[in-house]
Amino acid sequence: MRRMFRRQIRKTLAQEVPPILQEANFAFDKGEYGRAAEIYERIAQIADARGGPRAPIFYLQAGRSRVYAGQVVLGMPSLRRGLELFVQRGQLQKLHNMGSRVVMELTERGLTREATEIESMLKSSVPSMTVMETSSAHAKKPILPTHCPSCGAPLRPDEVEWLDNATAECGFCGSPVCEEN
Ligand SMILES: [Zn+2]
Repeated sequence: MRRMFRRQIRKTLAQEVPPILQEANFAFDKGEYGRAAEIYERIAQIADARGGPRAPIFYLQAGRSRVYAGQVVLGMPSLRRGLELFVQRGQLQKLHNMGSRVVMELTERGLTREATEIESMLKSSVPSMTVMETSSAHAKKPILPTHCPSCGAPLRPDEVEWLDNATAECGFCGSPVCEEN
């Protein structure tokens, strides 16, 4: 009964996901990073102008897409803006989690200068990194599907908002995502 109920919720919410977001996630998934970036940038700017809660994650995904597309110069302003919004909103845990991932991804691609820039931005914004939870604290979290069933966004257990022990909220579309079993 419970599972059916959940499935119903998911179905209803899926209709509210903007097609433009699904399009961006689909392009990203197919490896069309330049195209994905253009759409994410548009979504991010609209969300930002509205003061929308998801603006930072859209900027970060736009920046990440540009970096994946090899357009690092175009990606850096989005990465900076996304992290800046976390600072302005006092979301330091998110800043720490997502900022660390950005640094890691830039480093992996040999973009040392860019990685250092983001790292110093994080250090100046987060007073003490030691008070932040490390990702190992999330080790016991249930396994999520790799993609949001509603909008198709990539999901990471350390980047989603957990609603309860088995349900997380997709940061891109706000739909509840249940543990995979
Ligand atoms: Zn979603």
